[in-house]
Amino acid sequence: MINITLPDNSVREYPEGITGFDIAKSISEGLTRNVLSVMVDGEVWDASRPINSDASVKLLTWNDPEGKATMWHSSAHLMAEAIEILYPGVKFGIGPDIENGFYYDIDFGEQPISSDDFPKIEKKIQELAREKQQFTRIEKTKSEALDYFSKKGDEYKVELINDLEDGEITFYESGHFTDLCRGPHLPDTSVIKAVKLLATAGAYWRGDETRKQLTRIYGITFPKQKELDEYLVMLEEAKKRDHRKLGKELELFTFSQRVGQGLPLWLPRGAQLREKLEAFLKRTQKRMGYEQVICPHIGNVELYKTSGHYQKYGESSFRPITTPIPGEEFFLKPMNCPHHCEIYSYKPRSYKDLPIRMAEFGTVYRYEQSGELHGLTRVRGFTQDDAHIFCTPDQVKDEFKGVMEIVMLIFKALSFKDFIVQISLRDKTNKEKYIGSDENWEKAEQAILEVAEESGLDTVIVPGEAAFYGPKMDFMVKDAIGRKWQLGTIQVDYNLPERFELEYIGADNLKHRPVMIHRAPFGSMERFVAVLLEHTGGNFPLWLAPDQAIVLPISEKYHDYAKKVLNLLNNSEIRALVDERNEKAGKKIRDAELMKIPYMLVVGEREVTEGTVSVRKHGHGDLGPIKVEEFVKRVNGEMEEELGGL
Ligand SMILES: [Zn+2]
Ligand SMILES: [Zn+2]
Repeated sequence: MINITLPDNSVREYPEGITGFDIAKSISEGLTRNVLSVMVDGEVWDASRPINSDASVKLLTWNDPEGKATMWHSSAHLMAEAIEILYPGVKFGIGPDIENGFYYDIDFGEQPISSDDFPKIEKKIQELAREKQQFTRIEKTKSEALDYFSKKGDEYKVELINDLEDGEITFYESGHFTDLCRGPHLPDTSVIKAVKLLATAGAYWRGDETRKQLTRIYGITFPKQKELDEYLVMLEEAKKRDHRKLGKELELFTFSQRVGQGLPLWLPRGAQLREKLEAFLKRTQKRMGYEQVICPHIGNVELYKTSGHYQKYGESSFRPITTPIPGEEFFLKPMNCPHHCEIYSYKPRSYKDLPIRMAEFGTVYRYEQSGELHGLTRVRGFTQDDAHIFCTPDQVKDEFKGVMEIVMLIFKALSFKDFIVQISLRDKTNKEKYIGSDENWEKAEQAILEVAEESGLDTVIVPGEAAFYGPKMDFMVKDAIGRKWQLGTIQVDYNLPERFELEYIGADNLKHRPVMIHRAPFGSMERFVAVLLEHTGGNFPLWLAPDQAIVLPISEKYHDYAKKVLNLLNNSEIRALVDERNEKAGKKIRDAELMKIPYMLVVGEREVTEGTVSVRKHGHGDLGPIKVEEFVKRVNGEMEEELGGL
């Protein structure tokens, strides 16, 4: 008999060779129907694979991310099977599950394929799914594996097998399809009830631009048709909110091939938005004892050798900048931290100076492959809302608390209501992997856990996910349509103070190393604005909107009055403009609605006579005429509500 420990820590005895499926059966009928795979001592296995020794076991269903992954990866096999039946002779690259669904890279040879073929393939997949095909795991020797795929004529699989060690090769068979695969897979295909193929794209074999381009087909499956329907509605909504599309429509940013890929150009409205965000954060940080610093965009190669960034980014990033002096090299800065370390050590520091909180909206440059670039979320130059806190080990907890407070203020001001705090700790069984003393790690991890606990927020703790130089806390927000985004991060660092030999004189008159905390609540301005656009659909809160109001004179006759209104608004620090085009009022209103300007102020004969403006609110329609002073009060009141007096 073996002992199986379940997630609730209960221990049950089972005969050796029991499977996850059998364990589910012994627990409940419902679980048996829903189990997709099983976690055995942290590894995901087939639910049908025998367990031969004591183990911790978690049965995985559609509600677990790993359960979804099993379903989607199995769906990739099923799609490959369907395609092989419909297009004999195709060859297969790789077919993994991804965050939402799966893909398979396929060499269709001379056979053309497009999304017009999707319905036919989807139908075939569904047909095969209903056959209740079982997935069988077969261990193969390397020569057997090579033999199989050589005979089949699939050079991609042969290449993959050549890179594997003998003894670690497994095949999975389902229906008429056999694949080189590590697994795990579903018990059978019958849980796949709804299928949608989503897109095709070109994908170089092994991501190498010098090799053949295969056709990548993306798809997703669900255990219920209803869930697929909901997902497709969400996708439609996501398309409307795509920040690249909105960025163009709302005239926030653009890209120019001549300037270079991945280098965003902020247009006046975008710059306005960004400045508002920066001002908000600067205000908050000033109140919390931060000081602004400013650093250049490049640094000597020696700086990055000291920091270790040269070793990390040197080879795979922008080439060094050379000068007329032989051997002199500069790098575009990939991080602000090294510069800030130098600011810390420009003069001797005492414990009485700590904590020092150094903030900078620092622009950094990192080379991303062109295929990885995506709107504002993956760029080659971006501005971090960076700050570094230098403190004593005893101050870590309070500093963490302070940073969390800032993050919460931001979430409130931008109405991110749904978020999770993820805490990454070190792997206690493998302490050699990490630098910094045991005592300091204990202290910092304890501090982070306590701060999270005291905050009462939803927290996930992930042991083993800390960086080698310190534990960290990340914030994942859910946007208005349920997608998850990673935003800010707070990270403890024992490494850079060591590398830069940072010191302070303690109360004991001896030299000590400060602890460094890196933090960027927005992450970067680019990424944050992208997330904000996708979250709000471009309907920014009033305090942040690039233009808060637009005055719409119904004819040229009222331009002077419109300008008078504009002056009053500008004097009250309301961002506004006048639409002086020779267009009908209806057209002006429609255009202002498209630009998502929160308030439209229509002025004509009656408004001039009464000294009023007729207010329309974006998305709400007509609110009637009010005095300009009343409108100013209304706007200020609304902003105060949004910002909670910040
Ligand atoms: Zn597989
Ligand atoms: Zn940093």
